[in-house]
Amino acid sequence: MTQATLQSAAPPRDLQVSEWFGPTFQGEGASSGRLALFVRLATCNLCCGWCDTPFTWDWSRFDRSAETRRVSVADLVTWAAGSETTLVVVTGGEPLLQRDGLADLVASLATAGKRLEIETNGTLVPGPALAASTAQFNVGIKLANSGLPENRRIRPDVIRTFADMAACVWKFVVRDLADLDELSALEARFGLAPIWVMPEGTDAESTLAVMRSVADEVLARGWNLTPRLHILLWGDVRGR
Ligand code: SF4
Repeated sequence: MTQATLQSAAPPRDLQVSEWFGPTFQGEGASSGRLALFVRLATCNLCCGWCDTPFTWDWSRFDRSAETRRVSVADLVTWAAGSETTLVVVTGGEPLLQRDGLADLVASLATAGKRLEIETNGTLVPGPALAASTAQFNVGIKLANSGLPENRRIRPDVIRTFADMAACVWKFVVRDLADLDELSALEARFGLAPIWVMPEGTDAESTLAVMRSVADEVLARGWNLTPRLHILLWGDVRGR
């Protein structure tokens, strides 16, 4: 039996999952406003100061055993296949920490006729199976406003890997105009495109204020601007 045969015969893996929900609207980025199902994977390799999903990774504040559970790829696929919604967004946490199981999920969902988007923080490479998949990667590189040192959030080798992939869009969380110069420097250094700028904030008023403060300059620099639609509609609630 060949190695390839052995691999293809392996049972699909489980995933450590925080929540799965939908259909709802994709709130951010290139597909903002589109109907989507969401699978939120647990754990993250970063700890952004403004993280709006700390329940996926911050075990000093949240009970890991209560917040996460192992779910089989088969069960997630059965759930998604039961919906007419075509788009499935896998988010986190950092989904690429579970790359092998994620590759199984993506392959199975694609077979079931779903279109996949994978949200990642751009610090971990996708690996051959995911890179060869039909999934779109929404790469959200963190700026200094995350509170993280540069060597944790900027991984040049990883960014170049994604930049070489066709199915990749870039998302940046900004707080004010000063963040845009840092974004411009990354754009020039790595040739990033297309770029989507979105506001930091967990309520409609603050996110709209950020959008209004940066909109003209985002336009001048040729980038896209996206709200965080779920925040505008429902505020900082889970599962929407
Ligand atoms: S990378 Fe995303 S999930 Fe991880 S800490 Fe930062 S904002 Fe939160």
